[in-house]
Amino acid sequence: MAATALAWFRRDLRLHDNPAWAAAAAGDEVAALVVIEPALLEAAGPWRRQAYLRALAGLDQSLKEAGGGLRVEVGDPVEVVPRVAADISAAKVTVNADVTRWSVARDRRVAEALQRPLDAYWGTVVHAPGLVLTAAGTLSRVFTPFYKRWLQTPIPGEVEPGSAPVLAPPPGMRLPDALSGKPAEPWSEHDALNRLDRWQERVDGYNDDRDFPATQGTSALSTALRFGLLSPRHAVAAIGAHTAGRAGFVRQLAWRDWYTHLTAENPDIDRVSLRPEYDRIAWASGAEADAGFEAWRHGRTGYPIVDAAMRELAGTGGMHNRLRMIAASFLVKDLLIDWRRGERWFRHMLADGDIAQNAGNWQWVAGAGPDAAPYFRVFNPVSQSRKFDPAGRYLRRWLPELAGLGDRDIHTPWEARPLDLASAGVDLGTTYPPPIVDHAEARQRTLAAYKEALGRNP
Ligand SMILES: Cc1cc2nc3c(=O)[nH]c(=O)nc-3n(C[C@H](O)[C@H](O)[C@H](O)COP(=O)(O)OP(=O)(O)OC[C@H]3O[C@@H](n4cnc5c(N)ncnc54)[C@H](O)[C@@H]3O)c2cc1C
Repeated sequence: MAATALAWFRRDLRLHDNPAWAAAAAGDEVAALVVIEPALLEAAGPWRRQAYLRALAGLDQSLKEAGGGLRVEVGDPVEVVPRVAADISAAKVTVNADVTRWSVARDRRVAEALQRPLDAYWGTVVHAPGLVLTAAGTLSRVFTPFYKRWLQTPIPGEVEPGSAPVLAPPPGMRLPDALSGKPAEPWSEHDALNRLDRWQERVDGYNDDRDFPATQGTSALSTALRFGLLSPRHAVAAIGAHTAGRAGFVRQLAWRDWYTHLTAENPDIDRVSLRPEYDRIAWASGAEADAGFEAWRHGRTGYPIVDAAMRELAGTGGMHNRLRMIAASFLVKDLLIDWRRGERWFRHMLADGDIAQNAGNWQWVAGAGPDAAPYFRVFNPVSQSRKFDPAGRYLRRWLPELAGLGDRDIHTPWEARPLDLASAGVDLGTTYPPPIVDHAEARQRTLAAYKEALGRNP
């Protein structure tokens, strides 16, 4: 009898350099399964949901090219995976492991229901959790030593997709496009690999360009990495480190690994400050916090750089890294709102939203993470805006109501002369809000609250 394997895809939606797929496709025949969990799909905001469904259509395309197709089931994996495994008499079920508390618990329950362990690999990180350790055998709580070790750790060679015949899904099986109600334009590993190829032409300028949101200075690969359309190991190998820009880019993938490893050790990373004293901060609460949060969420804080970033997030599901830092810092340190509230909103809205990366970065901004921005570092939204969008090109793209202001005033409309406001068609309080807080005062209030909680002097 032919040995059939079931490859259960989750956030590794590709065939290239995919250890779980390679292991499954090394046998006599292989079936590819995705289980859509309605509650999870519902919890994802519109952009991540769309990206996911498109990526499923893309995976289906890759599998069709391999002669089969993707079996898409909707339901609870604890019921679905054993049923499908029994249906095709699978000798094994392969997966690429994940680190969140939710996915770890799910995999445990599925293995119990299957009455055998899942055949688990690591295909979503460069180095697996537990492989990059200090001399004492622990995960470094500071990034730079982690990074040094990470660089010294040999990267396993890429795996070739196996050659087993790929089973077609049962007739009548609904594909992701049908589930979304309208055809999802496939977005495949080929698209991700093409984007990586195009990135080769710009990556050498990464260190100079990466902080300027009006330029295309970064790779825009995070959503492809989030859903595993691109192997991070392949990205590291393809880019190399022979120029400073390339090394700078690869370093960011080490940050991505570090937050994944931290999450594996701290599955409550989205709920608990990794420096426990930060959970003593008396965050703003009640109507004041709600009003601030709503203004922030809708891009109506009166600080153009924050508002433009939040509108881009709502309108595209994306936001440049520099702007994520500025917008997150504004919520936490200007509005004194608990970082967890912002983390949840970002995660909901970001197409690349991911617990490990998002919570890890929010903890960094709030100062609560193990190797975070010092608590007294408060981004000034005006100087950041002037420095990283000097001509207001990014601001004009997202705040058309301010587009007529000059390059200086566009960062601080409240400081513009009435005549200049009038000639730009800006009516503060009507067409665009005045600042909801005074940055200097807000900074003092936040530092006082932090010091109170941390028991520190300035
Ligand atoms: C508050 C905040 C929240 C964030 N939330 C997420 C998130 O939910 N998902 C996510 O993938 N990234 C998140 N990031 C990290 C970073 O902003 C994005 O990965 C980056 O903007 C994606 O754009 P890019 O692909 O062009 O990145 P590039 O600059 O081209 O970087 C290459 C890759 O490295 C990784 N990377 C880059 N910066 C970071 C970083 N600071 N931390 C971890 N990995 C990084 C990403 O996978 C990225 O695609 C967040 C950052 C902040 C400050």
